[in-house]
Amino acid sequence: MTGSNFCRRFAQVAFFLVFMAAAAHSSTAWQATSTAASPVWQRPPATAAAPTPAPVTLADILRGAYGPYRVNNDLLSYHLDIRVDPEKQTVSGKNSIRFKMLQDGTRIQLDLHSALGVDKVLLGTTPLQFVRDSGAVFVDFPQMLRAGQEYTIDFYYSGHPLTTARFGGFTFGKDPAGRPWIYTACEDIGASDWWPNKDQWRDEVENMQISVAIPNGLVDVSNGKFLGKTDLGDGYTRWDWLVQYPINNYDVALNIGNYVHFSDQVGDLPLDFYVLPEDLEKAKKQFAQAKGMIEAYEHYFGEYPFKKDGYKLVEVPYSGMEHQSAVAYGNHFTNGYLGRDWTGVGVSPKFDFIIIHESGHEWFGNAVSAADRSDMWIHEGWTTYLEVLYVEYTFGHEDAQKYVNGYKAKVQNREPIIAERGIAATPPQDMYFKGALFLNTLRNVINDDARWWALIHDFYQHFKYQNIMTEDVVAYFNQQTQLYLTPLFDQYLRHTAIPTLELKFNEADGTVEYRWQADEPDFAMPIRVGKRTDWQIIQATTYWQTMKTPLKKNDFDVATDLYFVNVSKE
Ligand SMILES: [Zn+2]
Repeated sequence: MTGSNFCRRFAQVAFFLVFMAAAAHSSTAWQATSTAASPVWQRPPATAAAPTPAPVTLADILRGAYGPYRVNNDLLSYHLDIRVDPEKQTVSGKNSIRFKMLQDGTRIQLDLHSALGVDKVLLGTTPLQFVRDSGAVFVDFPQMLRAGQEYTIDFYYSGHPLTTARFGGFTFGKDPAGRPWIYTACEDIGASDWWPNKDQWRDEVENMQISVAIPNGLVDVSNGKFLGKTDLGDGYTRWDWLVQYPINNYDVALNIGNYVHFSDQVGDLPLDFYVLPEDLEKAKKQFAQAKGMIEAYEHYFGEYPFKKDGYKLVEVPYSGMEHQSAVAYGNHFTNGYLGRDWTGVGVSPKFDFIIIHESGHEWFGNAVSAADRSDMWIHEGWTTYLEVLYVEYTFGHEDAQKYVNGYKAKVQNREPIIAERGIAATPPQDMYFKGALFLNTLRNVINDDARWWALIHDFYQHFKYQNIMTEDVVAYFNQQTQLYLTPLFDQYLRHTAIPTLELKFNEADGTVEYRWQADEPDFAMPIRVGKRTDWQIIQATTYWQTMKTPLKKNDFDVATDLYFVNVSKE
């Protein structure tokens, strides 16, 4: 289906629309997310500094869109049951995929990287036909599957999964002592890099079993609750794990190594730690921070979201990843981020960045998840803000202010935080730092901490275990605050520039004119101005207003540590 004649973006979109139209009466769920149906989601005009976007390929659309053969079904459960051979560097086995049809149909879309072979797909004992197109595997059924009915297929596959992309995908590695160390990290490339699944963000299984057969003597740590291990009698042992909550595909992880285990607990939440034997003593000291982390986040948001599955930290050779209930840790058992002062203001060396950041994702990313990769700030902006909350809870408000403002130096403002929807696009790194600075700004817009703490607590609780988009976040905040915050969210998330407070002084009259310069015409935001020891709050809009001030231009201050804004004075 692909060809060089589809390299032009408009041709692809046109083709895609034909492709989509082929689906019998697409559901409203699909229409609501269509790039074509919602002009508001079109890529904003490029600025001089913005990088040129790569052409969208059909593979991007198959991978990123919630297409007709995804929208017609709802995932219920996976049982991934595989054998990992460190000698041959292969993975083989099956994923049993249980789903409910939402519409009558004879085809569903699953995904598996083209580097891996599909051995067979069975419905009961009936072999099913399938068609592969880039990473997609379209599975065809001989009879109509009926809306409302549940089905289970067994998807058998094998091969050598790729070690690729920023986080490694699937790696057959060795630990420093030369023993096998095999691990996954596939958020960017997608879980179909190493196992067959419905590889998108919108739909999650309700639960999942993970069974991994590995040579005797090695340990596999995957997500969920450890059920037990079984000696298979052929030199291999199968390790069984049970995930009892919805889980993002990319969170599903294998960590196979010569791990040793120790444990602790916070209240009745079990904490389990898996590290290489050489690192045991260092880990026992460093991982004590997990307790304070859990306490801080529970303080703000409520109970750890995956209690039945427990909380684990698992040593890996890369820096870290938020694998649900089995957080990957590779921060060298030191504070800061890989030994560095992460925000450069002396606060980061007080804690282990990877424990605090990656575990924060249990609340935002894993419990509250984005429904499309375009809105990944819901994971990263919020979790970066959770770091700030951890600092506030543990070290106090002053450190938290220093810490969050330290992030300003990392903000680029080169393209909007929200990326193009439906093509598995990765948003820019501003989603982390600018995202956190925006939430800190919002706290000061609310200007009532008791209200802010209740608001973010209730927001989390409201959307826990759901997959949401930015519109859901904005609607919730508008509704709860009874404020019209949409232009504020849009300015920070859908435009490149942050707002600028324009000030024009007339010192002879003792007045200053003020307004916001912003892309959103309805942008309005109160802000503290004047004297730092006695702030005045002005309700600035994009229209000029005038206030009296006894302060001269150079003495007139703006609380840019509480609001992430530019100021221009004339
Ligand atoms: Zn993160």
